[in-house]
Amino acid sequence: MNKDVLGFINPELEELEQKGLYKHIRTLEGPQGAWVEIDGKKLLNFCSNNYLGFAADERIKKAAKDAIDRYGVGPGAVRTIAGTMTVHKQLEEELASFKGVEACLVVQSGFSANLCAIPSLVGKGDTIISDELNHASIIDGSRLSRADIKVYAHNDMDSLEQVLKSDLQGRKLIISDGVFSMDGDIAPLPDIVELADKYGAMTMVDDAHGEGVVGRSGRGIVDHFDLHGQVDVEIGTFSKALGVMGGCIAGSERIVEYIKQKSRPFTFSSALTVPDTAATLEAVRILAESGQLVEQLWDNARYFQEGVRKLGFDTGKTETPITPVMIGDAKDSLEFSKRLFDAGIFATTIGFPLVAHGAARIRVMISAAHSRKDLDFALETFAKVGRELDLIS
Ligand SMILES: *Cc1c(COP(=O)(O)O)cnc(C)c1O
Repeated sequence: MNKDVLGFINPELEELEQKGLYKHIRTLEGPQGAWVEIDGKKLLNFCSNNYLGFAADERIKKAAKDAIDRYGVGPGAVRTIAGTMTVHKQLEEELASFKGVEACLVVQSGFSANLCAIPSLVGKGDTIISDELNHASIIDGSRLSRADIKVYAHNDMDSLEQVLKSDLQGRKLIISDGVFSMDGDIAPLPDIVELADKYGAMTMVDDAHGEGVVGRSGRGIVDHFDLHGQVDVEIGTFSKALGVMGGCIAGSERIVEYIKQKSRPFTFSSALTVPDTAATLEAVRILAESGQLVEQLWDNARYFQEGVRKLGFDTGKTETPITPVMIGDAKDSLEFSKRLFDAGIFATTIGFPLVAHGAARIRVMISAAHSRKDLDFALETFAKVGRELDLIS
């Protein structure tokens, strides 16, 4: 027997390469910031979710170092056995107060938070009602729950109501991203809450791209719509605007306690590390004190979006600093991204399967860390590349 049992791998990898779907991953040689270094070259960074520049903020770095001196680095265990430290509790309390919820549970990532919350709340015989563009971690958490999954058209409240009106089994849970990461549009949360109320469903919103971005001082999507106490579960991540790593589940005491008791990634995977936890706590404290960086982020977003539209580009349906510069054809978009890279801008192309065929775009992630000079350089470069490729006049 010398049949190669791993013989399926190479043909599949080659197929990915041929279809342009193979992920060639770049390595950053220094910190995440407005500019990054790749292959010895400095590039303006439009790829990261580091909305507020917190990923390498001096105050946050110091908080992580101080916490290491006090608590070490590793949590040593899962949270339920011996992995919960004072920093975890502090973060949970201060984050809950910042977000205006009764309670908060800190877990290892945003992805993990969805795997914790969804299968705790629904199971076999229940129903999840999910926006068609929800994040992969919501989809995977939903599948893991073994509940029946019904999908409604993106942000379409008629479609949601059609689903809710149909004959649904067991407990009902409506789940939506708060801010959608490919187009930068916002879920109509007040309408979702109203429909949930009418049809007796629980509500859950994943605020990964909303935290630190929308709401007062970046308090998130629920604050943005002033819906405090009306959304059952909020999922958060510390890896985007907060600049670190980790996730949270927020809501009433009752629901957070229930998820704490029931969820498997919380029970069987170790706690968030000390430096991550302390760094996130510092990020929350900075935001609780001042909304100045959030204002800077929005100023930068408005400036770049107006500028790029004036050049003749379409920025789709964005309502947030996520800026899709629509190109259309996947090959054009790839070429656009390559030329930007050569000119000193790191901005990836996003194509199928992340977005529909013919809707390829360069996704520009604006940060408060960008200066006016950076954004002017970007606008000049977009104009030059756009004209070279005959996409604008
Ligand atoms: C990024 C993202 C996540 C994953 O968060 P991590 O903390 O990076 O695991 C989950 N949900 C949504 C909507 C996201 O955009």
